[in-house]
Amino acid sequence: MSADNNPLLAHWSAPFGAPPFAEIRTEHYRPAFDAALAANQTEIAAIADSVEEPTFDNTLGAFERSGQALDQVASVFFNLAGSDTNEEIQAIERDMAPILSRHHTAIYLNDRLFRRIDAVHARRDSLSLSAEQLRVLERYHMAFRRAGAGRPEGVKHRLADISERLASLGTQFGQNVLNDEKSWVMKLDGEADLAGLPDFLVAASAGAAADRGEGGHIVTLSRSLIEPFLQFSARRDLRETAFKAWLARGEGGGATDNRAIIAEVVALRAERAKLLGYETFAHYRLDDSMARTPEAAMALLRSVWKPARKQALIEREGLQKLAAEQGDNIEVSAWDWRYYAEKKRKEQYDLDEAELKPYLQLDKIIEAAFDTASRLFGITFTERKDVPVYHPDVRAFEVTDGAGRSIGLFYGDYFARSSKRSGAWMSAFRSQKKLDGEVKPIIVNVMNFARGAAGEPTLLSFEDARTLFHELGHGLHGLLSNVTYPLLSGTSVVRDFVEFPSQLYEHWLEQPQVLERYAVHYKTGEPMPKALLDRLLASRTFNQGFATVEYVSSALVDLEMHLLENTEGFDAGAFETKVLKEIDMPRAMVMRHRPPHFQHVFSGEGYSSAYYSYLWSEVLDADGFDAFVEAGDIFDARTAARLKEFVYSAGNKQDAAKAYRDFRGHDPRPEALLRKRGLAA
Ligand SMILES: [Zn+2]
Repeated sequence: MSADNNPLLAHWSAPFGAPPFAEIRTEHYRPAFDAALAANQTEIAAIADSVEEPTFDNTLGAFERSGQALDQVASVFFNLAGSDTNEEIQAIERDMAPILSRHHTAIYLNDRLFRRIDAVHARRDSLSLSAEQLRVLERYHMAFRRAGAGRPEGVKHRLADISERLASLGTQFGQNVLNDEKSWVMKLDGEADLAGLPDFLVAASAGAAADRGEGGHIVTLSRSLIEPFLQFSARRDLRETAFKAWLARGEGGGATDNRAIIAEVVALRAERAKLLGYETFAHYRLDDSMARTPEAAMALLRSVWKPARKQALIEREGLQKLAAEQGDNIEVSAWDWRYYAEKKRKEQYDLDEAELKPYLQLDKIIEAAFDTASRLFGITFTERKDVPVYHPDVRAFEVTDGAGRSIGLFYGDYFARSSKRSGAWMSAFRSQKKLDGEVKPIIVNVMNFARGAAGEPTLLSFEDARTLFHELGHGLHGLLSNVTYPLLSGTSVVRDFVEFPSQLYEHWLEQPQVLERYAVHYKTGEPMPKALLDRLLASRTFNQGFATVEYVSSALVDLEMHLLENTEGFDAGAFETKVLKEIDMPRAMVMRHRPPHFQHVFSGEGYSSAYYSYLWSEVLDADGFDAFVEAGDIFDARTAARLKEFVYSAGNKQDAAKAYRDFRGHDPRPEALLRKRGLAA
């Protein structure tokens, strides 16, 4: 196949230059990758082998202009590999992981290229560079050094081998989890198996069965189905069965068992860090973060662990007492926690999820999230039916600024399906840049909401609604991006800052001004009654001991694993047990993500030794939202303008700590975090 008739390599002429999804077939990917890789190699060679004196423009500028075909192919491929995959795509993914890793490594270990960058870097003060150019230069110089550029040949070879192997292992890890989630189904036979389930969950479990072309009701391991099941099912035996399957993802023995992969990954990461002159992988990884050191990250986690654990023990006592009052002669176990917590929530706040849900329609919450962006940043989302989409469920929206000028395209892909990875995420089909004329971003939000029954609207839990706001927060970070160089675009900031725009955005969902308007009953159109709204807002800190323990234990295990200097004979299970024992993990509680299915950490490098980032960013979002509270208006125009200038539109133009200070006027203060979670002494 020639490049001419491969739609992945063609000029995309649809509105917004959206990818021509309908024309792309699985067999187009491999040849497109091959052609794009070859083109990129030629570009890199031309920069590295140039006989001209190295300048910013002929080196860094040229480097920023290279690889566009590869970006185009890879963005479509990896987005679809996450959101609409199949066995053929999975096979290509496995094939491409080491090839792309080798390609990337060869660039970052190219000595001639590095020498040119280094030469420009040495003269950086005399080049009259713009602030953004200087930032690009500093970031690339550091990235090349962190990859091993300039090291002896033997070291570079080993680093390349390690990266390649890690890329394959990461791909395999993610596919194993997906396959375990896909293959597990629990049938609910008849009324007895549906005991305790509210209407929405009965409908969702029927929807999940229908999605697989079956009748009746099923529970799958999709978080949006299994969590409510554990919350409501009155059948303790079924809760136990489902919970154990959920917990065992990635360690079922056989081909999809991830434990050997973990051992190898941990060892390879440690070896790479040592080759690059760092004590451990965590030291290497956090050297380029806002926290700077594992000690700083660890200190935050430990400071939160103590009050969270104390609170969780109080919560457990309450649940145990409630179980006894209900005549359930049991000791509360991990598969009981959500069930009794739901009952406790009802008792304490007269609030149950089933009462809330009719007020949380997916379409209305989408509207609420868009409207919030409109009031803060003056932008508008308008649905477009003439833009290509990759699945019939996907919706496309044009985003325009206050002057009616188009600034980008936004895709929303909201429903769970078996071809989709679990969880929720934001990604880009194209990132914003202005290097050679304005390129507008194409951003996607992917979620896994259980679809409502036929003819009924999809109803969300409050957590689902929060997820939607969270991902749109990331989406806005991509859509509002206003930078020249692609390296610095949108969400390409350090990992422990990247959750700040998303978590900050969640705060607006919790505001009465927003809920009064958008939380309306799907049958009557009536707004949520004031008393219910008050109870909902009062319950925000409910069960936060549990939620914090679940999260912080995962973050601690992640960080500890990557602080090992000696990884010989590493046993993931034994290590998990050891760390949980050291921190005195409360009985009947488990990590939010156990290592065998900890996608953040092992399905690629993403959050490896950086799962703490969510909490780090939460210090910023709790303290950051206070800026609006202090201004006396949650849509305060001046605060919003600073937020846009220094955070949402700024990409990685400056250091994260400075960006935060410029927005807030002072460094982040951790007290707001403990207050937000109801853990302050
Ligand atoms: Zn996020």
